[in-house]
Amino acid sequence: MSSRARSSDRIPSPNHPSSQNEGAAAAERSQAHSGEDPRPLYKELLRRSGGRPPRSFGHSPKKSSVPLLARSCRCRERQGADMSHKWGYGPNNGPDKWEEGFPIANGPRQSPINIVPKEAQFSPSLKPLKLKYDPSNSLGILNNGHSFQVDYLDDADSSILTGGPISGTYRLKQFHFHWGASDERGSEHTINGIKFPCELHLVHWNTKYPSFGEAAGQSDGLAVVGVLLKIGAANPRLQKVLDALASIKTKGLQTTFANFDPETLLPASRDYWTYDGSLTTPPLLESVTWIVLKEQISVSPAQMAMFRSLLFSGKGEDECCMADNYRPPQPLKGRQVRASFK
Ligand SMILES: [Zn+2]
Repeated sequence: MSSRARSSDRIPSPNHPSSQNEGAAAAERSQAHSGEDPRPLYKELLRRSGGRPPRSFGHSPKKSSVPLLARSCRCRERQGADMSHKWGYGPNNGPDKWEEGFPIANGPRQSPINIVPKEAQFSPSLKPLKLKYDPSNSLGILNNGHSFQVDYLDDADSSILTGGPISGTYRLKQFHFHWGASDERGSEHTINGIKFPCELHLVHWNTKYPSFGEAAGQSDGLAVVGVLLKIGAANPRLQKVLDALASIKTKGLQTTFANFDPETLLPASRDYWTYDGSLTTPPLLESVTWIVLKEQISVSPAQMAMFRSLLFSGKGEDECCMADNYRPPQPLKGRQVRASFK
């Protein structure tokens, strides 16, 4: 999951790197691939690969494995910005590098994980999930530069999650997605090693704490409902969200998004797996009770393409398609995954 919050409830991030090198990094990036001639890009890839010709650039005998992104958006350049600039999903600031600024990346309860259903323990004490959302609480939709999120008013118990594996009342803060550059990948959680093209996260915070920001630092502070998307028929319930994306193409853009009930996005079955985990984006705090629904919802290839029409980049920067914004599965480290169903 990711989050960009108001200053009053920002997630604490003690080791968050400063952005003072942004100017230099931006200059380097724009220099690395100015103009339409692909040669500068090739040279840059060559430099980054330590002199070896980059695989699948130009006429490789193999099918390209640096597919859509590099061709349509030249993303790899921008994503190459290192951790001193800002975390992201590129080779130099992506999930493998997050530990440099956020050592909890190697902690005992990191997310996501690969869920192996036959190793999950059916737990009859797990209660049914209860979701009660007020559509009028939806505030707006924001491109936060890592994903997009729909934010909810959370100053009262009007949109809440109760039951399931949690005690007490958790308020809905926002929902967002993670997705791939192709339909073969994109989800954060995997099932028996199977990747899905997209994953929805509904983020809630425990009202025994005064705010989202304070809850995010507590072991029982957050509860995230995860829903996997699988390729199939177009999903009409997703369409209102997807239609809003044209208005928030670049990082930092937001627009109003009124009267939306996120329960309409959920599958019919409320069966779930649950385990103790973390945020899947920096600061990777180990404060999340994960609730991953067993049943998937559908999404069409054309709808997946709409997710990828967003940009990681801001206005005026080199265009870089938002995709592959997922963290891969992390070690289970002895944790038990429980199932609400047999
Ligand atoms: Zn997420």
